[in-house]
Amino acid sequence: MISSLLKCISCGKEFPLTEVRFTCTCGNLLDVEHDLSALKKKFRLSKKYFDSKNTTLHGQPSGGVWHFHEIVLPSAKENEIVSKQEGNTRLYQNRKISSWLGLKRFYLKHEGENPTGSFKDRGMTVATTQAKRLRQKAVVCASTGNTSASLAAYASEADITGLVLIPKGNVAVGKISQALAYGTKTLVVNGDFDDCMRLIFEAQEKLQAYPLNSINPFRLEGQKTIIWETLQQLDWKVPDWFVFPGGNLGNTSAFGKALHEAHQLGFIEKMPRFAVIQAEGASPFYQAFKNGFKELKAQKAETIATAIKIGNPANYTKAIRSLRWTNGIVESVTDEEILDAKSVVDAAGIGAEPASCATVAGLKKLLSAGTIKPKETVVGILTGNILKDPQIIVDYHIGKKGNRSNPPVEIAPSINEVAKFL
Ligand SMILES: *Cc1c(COP(=O)(O)O)cnc(C)c1O
Repeated sequence: MISSLLKCISCGKEFPLTEVRFTCTCGNLLDVEHDLSALKKKFRLSKKYFDSKNTTLHGQPSGGVWHFHEIVLPSAKENEIVSKQEGNTRLYQNRKISSWLGLKRFYLKHEGENPTGSFKDRGMTVATTQAKRLRQKAVVCASTGNTSASLAAYASEADITGLVLIPKGNVAVGKISQALAYGTKTLVVNGDFDDCMRLIFEAQEKLQAYPLNSINPFRLEGQKTIIWETLQQLDWKVPDWFVFPGGNLGNTSAFGKALHEAHQLGFIEKMPRFAVIQAEGASPFYQAFKNGFKELKAQKAETIATAIKIGNPANYTKAIRSLRWTNGIVESVTDEEILDAKSVVDAAGIGAEPASCATVAGLKKLLSAGTIKPKETVVGILTGNILKDPQIIVDYHIGKKGNRSNPPVEIAPSINEVAKFL
């Protein structure tokens, strides 16, 4: 039996994997740590191993997250796994977007093509599996966005009670519609976001409800597979850069851990660099990066990219570690830059929600500044689906608020009128 454990990223204190715990006694974040050399030996882990492996799950062929079972949650038995075949997302190469950017070798990994429309599903399959293994009574989160949508779908799949807590006054119905539809109970708390977070951890202690916010280290194990899958799709050739948005910095943390482990296991020889992109109005990580990580100043966040509208990122310390491992940088972009980049991604027939398009906006900025070179190989991550935020699209194109808007045109019912547009 291969052992994994929970380990504090600061003081190194260890806890068994069976303990329901999210922070160390010293207050810092926990990693799920696997015995990599034992795993490597037992499964003879190699590129060939993953290339030739046929993964099946519950009798179905299944790639994605559980293709990397051995390095995600090796002790999970097949009958414990709660999965909706997440992952296995496309890696697009698009001429229009590449030429707008001025890049030759550019790939977009589209995590909006997951079951509920965001990468959160990759984390949720693993964390929900762990909730079941720990015999928890319910799963909970505080979120108005993609986390609650994903939690709701996985709670349904696992046949476990799901609860979403949101602060009153911040309820945009469009954003929680998926959670409502998938049958999770949404509790509107007469308080603020901090009250919701406090209630979640109290619910864990007193009610055996398992928190699935990104502070949950099992979520990050699932999100690691975005990197593993990309490397495999690129035939294990390491790109020069990974570019992606940063909000609570769960992906930043997970991606760094994935590459660090891939390097330790001998899958890759060089480390790619990270460029984490934040929205200007929600850029505490960018500000901290500029002051050499001397301090994190929490902000009141404001941006149209709601998925990264976060003023006090939960995974800050893990994210710093990832930047050190990858010689990474942080950039910030305006809402206008995000929307214009989005119009390019959308018009390429690919499309993604605003937070995802911070990736492309940031990349454009870093190319103009010469930080990223046109001849380098770049992988950008699109984190969420275009349909997550239709109102933004309507405002941009029909409301003509955008620089590249494409409004509909009214015409008389005559073929000559139609012909004008061909
Ligand atoms: C959650 C989310 C993010 C932010 O990711 P972090 O891991 O919290 O930095 C970005 N984009 C989308 C679409 C999301 O759902």
